[in-house]
Amino acid sequence: MSLPFVWLGNHTAIDFLNTRKINKGKQQELLTTFEDIEEWLRTAGFLHRITGIAELNAEDKIRIHAEVVEVRELLQTAVDALIQGEIWDQQWIDHVNALLQANAGYLRVANKSESLRSEMIYEAHRLAGFFMEQLVRLTSECVQGKIKKCSNPECILHFYDHSRNGSRRWCDVTTCGNRVKVNQYYHRKKARLTK
Ligand SMILES: [Zn+2]
Repeated sequence: MSLPFVWLGNHTAIDFLNTRKINKGKQQELLTTFEDIEEWLRTAGFLHRITGIAELNAEDKIRIHAEVVEVRELLQTAVDALIQGEIWDQQWIDHVNALLQANAGYLRVANKSESLRSEMIYEAHRLAGFFMEQLVRLTSECVQGKIKKCSNPECILHFYDHSRNGSRRWCDVTTCGNRVKVNQYYHRKKARLTK
């Protein structure tokens, strides 16, 4: 079964944040189990960076799933702060550093045609660390004003705006963009008719 994951964030951290979306007016959780997270990692092409999944028992999986969802909550607060231009408080930074230390990965090198490629590897028990790495990458590398929430008020998806003039407004023009435009057209038309 393939889940309807969303890959329009232009950044791994934002694609991870977008594992909650609105479907027919209701919030839909795309990561309901550990297996969903595993599938997300596989689809995103990161599963090779996690070791020891086969050795996890059911209890481990419940704990790790909860930790990963907690990282997503932390990421949401970070993205909200970035959008609002807030400054990190020391307490938040200390919390992030404690989570990074508790879920530390290690660097591994592999052959890549003519050069070497390095990647952070995480033991499955510390899977939260992989997502913390993405959070840190986003918060430390992003350009102010480039992270946006979709302009459709009924949508909760986010994206990193790579357009040159920073004009991207919708998670997806054909769904949210058109839906809002059609709605506005309908309301304008209705307003005209009732005058
Ligand atoms: Zn949208």
